[in-house]
Amino acid sequence: MQLDAEDISALIVLCRAEIDRHGEHLGLLDSAIGDGDHGTNMRRGLNAVFTERETIAALPLPAALERIGLVLVMSIGGAAGPLYGTLLMELGRGLAPDANAAAFVATLEQAIAAVARRGRAGPGDKTLLDVLYPVQAAMLERSAPERIADCALSAARSTEAMQARRGRAAFLGARSVGHEDPGASSCALLAATICGYFAE
Ligand code: ADP
Ligand code: MG
Ligand code: MG
Repeated sequence: MQLDAEDISALIVLCRAEIDRHGEHLGLLDSAIGDGDHGTNMRRGLNAVFTERETIAALPLPAALERIGLVLVMSIGGAAGPLYGTLLMELGRGLAPDANAAAFVATLEQAIAAVARRGRAGPGDKTLLDVLYPVQAAMLERSAPERIADCALSAARSTEAMQARRGRAAFLGARSVGHEDPGASSCALLAATICGYFAE
């Protein structure tokens, strides 16, 4: 994973724009099965990272990821903040500065496991993990970026059929079925944006 300052900065700009563009939709998804704030939470998070992007981009990739995670924990709030924060902080902490693609995917697996522990969640619980697992699996198979992006977006859509077992949506029980999970949706948008950058 040879990402220089320009790449890190560009990815931050793109991710922030994507979340901004879909903020309202993420809010609507969360209104259906939660408290409606996922769009504002994510916009706040990405805006905070955007504000710090020059300092972050100057860091080596592992330290940059760890810093992004910390900023996300402090700014997103809600349930999603600590989960996205754990993902990025664990990824940054576990990544060697000269890690190749295979090492990156292995570290990502560990970071996703940390998110699962933190949320006490697993596959099929209708959370952002239902996007993270298939994305990591597709990366492990060395799928093309376009393919991984499609996989992320379809994984988010597939949460519609699931019944939530974690987070606020779990209180709805069977009534949570029929709605896409907001965290899965934001996660897929971010994954697809990152893939789009590498596809160019
Ligand atoms: P809150 O629910 O506190 O308002 P957000 O709306 O920002 O926080 O985030 C909700 C999203 O967080 C959910 O859609 C789901 O994807 C994710 N989530 C919530 N609780 C958990 C959990 N225990 N484990 C994994 N993901 C979770
Ligand atoms: Mg919410
Ligand atoms: Mg909330």
